[in-house]
Amino acid sequence: MTPLPGTTRYLCPLECGWHYDQPPPKFSDLDGIVADPSARGLNEAMSSVTSQARLRQVERTEWALRTHLATHTTEEFVRTIQGLRREIAELRERPVVGVRQTKETP
Ligand SMILES: [Zn+2]
Repeated sequence: MTPLPGTTRYLCPLECGWHYDQPPPKFSDLDGIVADPSARGLNEAMSSVTSQARLRQVERTEWALRTHLATHTTEEFVRTIQGLRREIAELRERPVVGVRQTKETP
């Protein structure tokens, strides 16, 4: 299913196919959030509300990622890291296509 426009998709770094979609913000995200009573003026009050809403969103995303990553074993992380290192080494050895080699000047 295609996510809503503005959605941020977090993919599992182990490429298992799992992902977490963070939908764009909506007004209902502000439910239960109260402006900081010490805010001086409307701008500060609005800023305190949006900051709390953003923190909630970040905490939800972090929880989803941590919960998923806990399903993987240490061995799976090690295999992924080794595979990425091999891939990086191969890319470094591959000539760059379309770029003319020039002599370096001392
Ligand atoms: Zn995964």
